Amino acid sequence: MRALQLKSFQSDPELVDLPEPEPGPGQVVIKVGGAGACHSDLHVMREFAEGMAPWGPPFVLGHEAAGWVHRIGSGVRNYEHGQPVAVYGLLGCGHCKPCAAGAENLCEHGMEGPPGIGFGVDGAMAEYLLISDPRRLVPIGDLDPADVAPLTDAGLTPYRVIKKVQPKLTPGSHAVVIGAGGLGHLAIQILGAMTPATVIAVDTRESALALARQVGAAATVQTSDNTAQELKDATEGAGADVVLDFVGSAPTIALGAAVAKPGMDLVVIGAAGGQFAWNFYALPYEVSLTTSFWGTLPELHEVIALARQNKVKAHVQRFPLDEARHAYELMEKGQLDGRAVIVP
Ligand code: ZN
Ligand code: ZN
Repeated sequence: MRALQLKSFQSDPELVDLPEPEPGPGQVVIKVGGAGACHSDLHVMREFAEGMAPWGPPFVLGHEAAGWVHRIGSGVRNYEHGQPVAVYGLLGCGHCKPCAAGAENLCEHGMEGPPGIGFGVDGAMAEYLLISDPRRLVPIGDLDPADVAPLTDAGLTPYRVIKKVQPKLTPGSHAVVIGAGGLGHLAIQILGAMTPATVIAVDTRESALALARQVGAAATVQTSDNTAQELKDATEGAGADVVLDFVGSAPTIALGAAVAKPGMDLVVIGAAGGQFAWNFYALPYEVSLTTSFWGTLPELHEVIALARQNKVKAHVQRFPLDEARHAYELMEKGQLDGRAVIVP
């Protein structure tokens, strides 16, 4: 089968021929219907080096996946050939207490091995994908796998955050979304589906802000020297009740801090690695500055349920496998709106 493989860190992935995976007992192989391209793939390709993590190349990229059940290993019950499914991409140890509850994003041994498919373990940018445990599959009904693939990370990650901050987002509240890209445009829809908050989106790109308005942002602010003031004005001077920072650079964290009001939640989700000098007075009183990482298996079931109710839909640009590298180039240049999905 054809697959997009990363052969070494700090290189571009290559289209290669690999043997089609065989399901062992208790395993499933899916025919990939869509594999989302994520900024964290670029991060791994460009910034990781040998020895930085207890895993490395070669491996097939792609941690956002959906497709159809293709081959079923012995002992697997309740799945049939051709059934459409989404894939929970995280790989925890499977037996610690968080893993037992489906929270493999919080695995107590999470730093000891590959964190998910497409990171040290073959991922979804291939014709077929081996699933180690059918527990990682979520049926998607009549949804199109290419539309669903981004929901497994770009949808699941903001869904988890929004569930955590939901008590702050009462009627009259304001939620600021920094970065209206792959995750941000889904966050805006999930905020609309789950909370009465007024959503304000910030981005450097006007095309991303147009998409943000299309999917439910009440106001948008294009980054300038005056962004913090414009954002404050958009909250009627009150400041934000929640800021979701999908970039995570030093300037975006500082922007979130500048529009924070006392008691609010400032959540950094983007992995740009920006620093923030924190002390008792650095933020208004009782602001919670925290991170959030991917999501749990039960939360993925909930995201898929929202999509099946037509309340969340990824804005998808499709690329064939042999144009996957081009999709990453466009992502690097900031020329994609929504999510790029590779359709093998
Ligand atoms: Zn991702
Ligand atoms: Zn675990």
